[in-house]
Amino acid sequence: EPERRSWLDKLRQGLKKTGSGIAQVFTGTRIDDALYEELESALLMADAGVAATEHLLHDLKRRVKETKATEPAQVKALLIDAITELLAPLEKSLEVGHTTPTVIMVAGVNGAGKTTTIGKLTRHLADARQRVLLAAADTFRAAAREQLGVWADRNQVDIVSQEGGDPAAVTFDAVQAGKARGCDVVIADTAGRLATQLHLMEELRKIKRVIGKAMDTAPHEVLLVVDGNTGQNALAQVKAFDEALGLTGLIVTKLDGTAKGGVLAAIALWSRQRQAPVPVYFIGVGEKLEDLQTFSAREFAHALLS
Ligand code: GDP
Repeated sequence: EPERRSWLDKLRQGLKKTGSGIAQVFTGTRIDDALYEELESALLMADAGVAATEHLLHDLKRRVKETKATEPAQVKALLIDAITELLAPLEKSLEVGHTTPTVIMVAGVNGAGKTTTIGKLTRHLADARQRVLLAAADTFRAAAREQLGVWADRNQVDIVSQEGGDPAAVTFDAVQAGKARGCDVVIADTAGRLATQLHLMEELRKIKRVIGKAMDTAPHEVLLVVDGNTGQNALAQVKAFDEALGLTGLIVTKLDGTAKGGVLAAIALWSRQRQAPVPVYFIGVGEKLEDLQTFSAREFAHALLS
């Protein structure tokens, strides 16, 4: 429990930049049009986007009417409820172990925190007694391969890596090795060069296909790591990668110290409008191994407005 409190404090502290403008709206004495207008600007400033902002305002007004709230403080509590309800469908825990190995493909643009997140995820799974193997499918960047190697060492797990090799071939080898060695989970780190987006998406699709060939089924998880601090840009990435790859889950990083945490609301609205919702399995709240946390809608909503 102390550990849980400490990351919640971290999230709270981190989201202060996002939430201060929103919390500020409720310091007055009246519930009037000015309050709603201020709230609209604050949500937009927090990068919730136009659609999610409208959704939340509409839902909030309904709640205010229903509860006959008279104080701004009550409206603030109702907003926490509205945000919680919008974000709740994003909650889901990552399940591994149903197939051996469970193959997790991880995508994300360079700098999003992909490699660090894989390191944290590996620790999380190792703690749950899962045997993990890493695949360095970003064969182009030597630094990426080396960095993943450092995480493999730190977590004492195997890694399949090949200098300058074909990313799909390395992934195929890793999945075969994972099967042969009786691993529970294979995590493939992929490239994230956004400059050549078309080529990148083609490469990622090929990796996905190859995993399918090696496993006789599509990858169990196709995860996207996005930097929460990029706000609406993160949403654009989610849409682009989903269109190209079909995502099964998200990990949103850098929610410690961002002014753009409202993007979670935008992602939630997008996910809701999709045929099958895409969950946020984890959020990143720092650079350390333990700074990967499962996503809780209510905790997030509270942290946002605390
Ligand atoms: P990649 O290029 O996507 O593989 O990104 P990296 O894993 O190399 O991460 C880029 C930078 O972001 C590094 O300095 C990480 O320590 C940092 N980083 C990753 N996740 C988080 C997070 O949740 N919070 C903070 N503050 N920094 C993070």
